[in-house]
Formats: sequence, structure tokens, C-alpha cells
Amino acid sequence: MATSSGHVAVLGAGPVGLDAALAATDAGLPVTVYEAGPAVGFHVRSWGHVRLFTPWRLNASARMRSHLARAGHEPPDGAAYPTGKDLADRLLRPLAALPALAGRIRLGHRVAAVARASLLKHEHIGTRTRAAAPFRLLVDGPDGEYEDRAGLVLDCTGTYATPNSLGDGGIAAPGERALAHRITRTLPPLHAEPGRWAGTVLLVGAGKSAQTAARGLAELPGTRLEWLVRDRDPDWGEVPDDSLPERQRLVSVSRDLAAGGHERVTVRTGARVTALAARADGRVRAAVTTPAGPHEVVADHVLALTGYAADPALYRQLQIHECYATGAPMNVSAALLGSAGGDCLAQPAVGLETLRNPEPGFYILGAKSYGRLNTFLLRSGYGQVDEVAGAWAAAEEPLAALRES
Ligand SMILES: Cc1cc2nc3c(=O)[nH]c(=O)nc-3n(C[C@H](O)[C@H](O)[C@H](O)COP(=O)(O)OP(=O)(O)OC[C@H]3O[C@@H](n4cnc5c(N)ncnc54)[C@H](O)[C@@H]3O)c2cc1C
Repeated sequence: MATSSGHVAVLGAGPVGLDAALAATDAGLPVTVYEAGPAVGFHVRSWGHVRLFTPWRLNASARMRSHLARAGHEPPDGAAYPTGKDLADRLLRPLAALPALAGRIRLGHRVAAVARASLLKHEHIGTRTRAAAPFRLLVDGPDGEYEDRAGLVLDCTGTYATPNSLGDGGIAAPGERALAHRITRTLPPLHAEPGRWAGTVLLVGAGKSAQTAARGLAELPGTRLEWLVRDRDPDWGEVPDDSLPERQRLVSVSRDLAAGGHERVTVRTGARVTALAARADGRVRAAVTTPAGPHEVVADHVLALTGYAADPALYRQLQIHECYATGAPMNVSAALLGSAGGDCLAQPAVGLETLRNPEPGFYILGAKSYGRLNTFLLRSGYGQVDEVAGAWAAAEEPLAALRES
């Protein structure tokens, strides 16, 4: 089971992790993929009921298509919009079963932390000595914890497991932590269990997940929705002349709901939750400030869809320069903040230099590389993998050691 320091370690078997693993095998590098969940695409499966707003042609990389075609599969393509489940069933699962990846993916293995063997965080800043030291991985596996080595680490662990708080300023509102068990923080399969959402739902957030939830909740006859939005005059992330019609549809529905177009839905803009408390009848009372004055919501359910943030705990002992605003690696963040505003489709490829960290040989790819920015698209993640793979092809990475080992 133990890997050598000659391995490429891919952390996370989401879409970007699997694409990165294929790129490593294409480059002739030994690769091990560590996946915390029981199946590849574990995060994607947990929002499997959600329909993507990007079509198949943007959701699979050229590398994925070519690997599937070579193995006799018809790669998903075209203008249809898959659900998360479709993405996992029709793309990720077949990819994981390809001979190129067979035996290289460890399901149920969570990487707890990564360090440089024999070196502390502050030692050998940017030196060859640091680059030459193997990475040391601490892994929680089904049979307990163990340690592995790797020469190169690609952190593709996403952000879905680290949701933001619903309180003002991004920290918990008083009472929020005590009521954590009453708050749903991921987009639930509303139509699969409509009865579960009967009564009043307090929804907090304004991004695409919150908009999707609002649209779904408005369709449930037994549900009354109180939707709190932080901005006073939200633009709902609208992109002028949007080339993605599903994304535009979501914006239009949100605008209609906010304009009072639905009798069971109240949208309060410029609103903040100032406290949460449990009532004797089991419901949750939320104190809210709004531009019109204080307000109180008594809710049967609380749905906090206030975005996700990258968790740095895993690489705390490495030399990673994080952006103080986004939590993304500094260079990636600067490139993104300086680029095309709200349209994630218009974001340029960031380039290999931008993806490099002060820690040599450690890359953060995929949704995690965007920190708390919610503009990540699969297409951007596959572009990042292309950049790193390009460096492998040009032998710019310390790969000789990997290939020889
Ligand atoms: C509801 C929703 C809808 C979206 N819709 C679109 C869309 O329409 N189009 C689009 O392009 N993008 C969309 N996105 C954004 C983005 O493309 C997805 O979040 C995508 O899943 C990101 O891929 P990833 O591989 O970077 O990370 P993830 O899919 O999050 O995969 C990370 C993997 O790492 C594993 N993992 C986590 N921690 C560890 C650890 N410590 N050790 C080992 N494994 C670990 C997880 O279990 C998971 O399998 C959407 C996101 C969400 C949440």
C-alpha cells in the first residue's frame, strides 16, 4: 500500500482530480488518488439532484473524452445539461474504471495533512533542499491512519465540505453554533422529499445554490419561503447577454420572486440574521435586521446557502501564500480578481506560473483554487490541469526523479 516519494499524489477524486490523474498517467508518472468519500465524485453526488447550468460540452475535458473513446465508451458531449448524478454516473465513474486509473484510486482515504518530510514550514524557503525533500502525507484510511510519500502533490479537494456561516460578516450569528444540527448547509433534493420542507423555510444566501433552492421551494405547495438576501439591490450574478440560458433562467426566477411574484415567497433584501434561538415548540426563531427595521422569522427549517470556502488545514505546514481576501492561493486570486468581472465563462486561463506556490511541487487545482470565490467552472479546472501537464511535457517539474523511482 505504501507509496514512494516518486508518486504523484492527487487529493480528491472529483472531476478535476480525475482529470489530473489522467494527465499524470499520460505523462508516464505513477499516480495515487486519495478520495475521502466512498465513491469517486463524492461531492458531485451529494448535489446529484441539481442540474448543471453548463452543458456536457463544457463539463468533460478533451483528455477525458479521448481516454473514454479509446476504451470504447461514447464520451458525453453536446448541448444537454446533466445533473450532478449524470456527471458522476456517465463521466466520473467510467473514467475511474479505465485501465489507466484502475488500482490507483483509494476510496475512503482522507488526507488529513501534508508536510515536507524532515522540514518545518519556515525552513529552507524556496531552496533546492526543500524541493528535493519528499512530501509526507498523513492519511485516514478504512483501517486507521497511515503515512505516505509523494514527489508531487495536487490538492483537488474542492470546497463543498466547508460551508460559510450565515451570520453577519461571515461568522456565526449568536445561537447559530448551538443550532448547527438544525441548519442545512448544502442544497437538498427538495422535490425528492417535498414533505420534509413543509411549513416555513428560512433561506439565507443569494448565489446560484440559494437561487436554485428558492426556485425549488417556491414550487412546493406546502412550503412558505422567507428568503433573506444580504445585498440591498442584488444583481443575482446576472451576466449581460448570458450565453448560458440555464444560468439566466435562474436569475430571472430570482428577480420575479424578489419582485413579489409569488404568494408563498417573501424576499427581504439588505437583510441580516442577528440571532437564532430554539423555541419551545421546536421551531427556530431568527432575529433579522432589514432596511425597514427589525423583523422576526419563525421557521420550521433553516437553509443556509451562503457559499463555501477553501479549507487550508490540510496544507498548513507548507509554504502557501494565501490571499487575505479570498483564501485562494495569492497569485490565482490576484489573476481572478483582476479579470473579467462576474462571468466565469470569460475568465482567462491563469497560466502555470500563477498556479505555482512558494512550496515547490504543491498545486491547488479545481474549485479549491478559487478559495471563497464562487465563479469556478469545471472548464477552468481542466484548463489548470492542462497547464500543469504542459510543464510535465516540457520537463519543467522535478520529474526525472519521479520517472526513475
Ligand atoms: C450545486 C453546485 C452546482 C454547480 N454547477 C456547476 C455548473 O453548472 N458548471 C460548472 O462548471 N461548475 C459547477 N459547479 C462548480 C464546480 O464545477 C463543482 O463544485 C465541481 O464539483 C468542482 O470540482 P473539483 O474536482 O474541483 O472538486 P469536488 O467536486 O468538490 O471534488 C473534491 C473531491 O475531493 C474529496 N476530498 C475532500 N477532502 C478530501 C481529503 N482531505 N482527502 C481526500 N479526498 C478529499 C471529496 O470527497 C471530493 O470527491 C457547481 C457546484 C455546486 C456546489
